[in-house]
Formats: sequence, C-alpha cells, structure tokens
Amino acid sequence: MVDECIFCKIVLRETPAEIVYEDNDAIAFLDINPRSKGMCIVASKKHFINFDENIELTSKLFDKALIVGEKIKKSLNPLSVSFSIMPAQVPHFHIRVYPVYKDQVPLFENKPIEISKEELNSLANKIRSAIVEWKGRQTKKVEEKPKEEKKEEPKKERSEEDVYWMKREMDVG
Ligand SMILES: [Zn+2]
Repeated sequence: MVDECIFCKIVLRETPAEIVYEDNDAIAFLDINPRSKGMCIVASKKHFINFDENIELTSKLFDKALIVGEKIKKSLNPLSVSFSIMPAQVPHFHIRVYPVYKDQVPLFENKPIEISKEELNSLANKIRSAIVEWKGRQTKKVEEKPKEEKKEEPKKERSEEDVYWMKREMDVG
C-alpha cells in the first residue's frame, strides 16, 4: 500500500468502486471516467508501477484482463475489445480494457464519455453476472478433473502416410 494511491485504496475498500472481479493477484473495476461504456481497469493488488518490475505477476494480470475482456464482450456486446498498458495518471500497474462500439472508439486522447453512477452500476452488474457464471464453470471444471484423467485415450490408427514415414526413418537410420 502506498499512501494516496487511489488503486491501493480501492483494493483496501477505502475508496468505493464498481468491482467486477477479484482474486489473489488482480482486481478489476469500472473506470469512473471511461472512454467507452463498460471500460474496466484490471489492476495489480500489489503496488508496483512498471510491467517489467515483475513480469511473472504482469503475465497473470494479462490473463485476467483477457478474461474480463471476454466477459465484457459477452455481456455488453461491443464490436470488439481493446487492451492497453501505458504510463497514465495513476502510477500503479494496470491494464485498461476498452469495449469498442460503433460510436465510441476509445482512444486515450479522446475525452471521457458522460456517464451516471446508476449507469456505471448497471454496466458493472452485467459484467459481474458473466464473470460469476464463468467462475462457477471454472470450479466445476476443477472438480471434474480427476474423472477426466482416468479416461484412456483411444488408440489412433496409423495412417498410410505415418507408416510410410516410419519405414523411411528406419531405412535411413
Ligand atoms: Zn497503489
């Protein structure tokens, strides 16, 4: 925790935010000055500034940003989703996840769009429900795993081509 860091304060719940996802490494919440509707910030829970200070953690955060992006796409139905990291106003590592709509192309140089607290909340709820659904499926997958491992893989028939190459390798060897 770094004093006066707004993202550290969100992690500690000292500053309110529309949080849509959280785990041991990452926290994702809606940007209150978004460039497009549903724009999210995926921040590290641990305070650091630059991506190369902790590549392993940065990589985990990218994984989470991709999931948040996928859930934004599923729940808000934008044309596409774009991702960026750049040294911005808040010096606490984060990835910006922007939904791209026909009339809202979220470029950093564009002004934030106007959005009410109520609308932010309703967007967050939509993304949250997509994430909750995904988390449920993740848990199921883990539970089902031992069963899957017991399954024997069906033996593959060798194709004529494989046999040809095997013979050839034997000839050469
Ligand atoms: Zn911080």
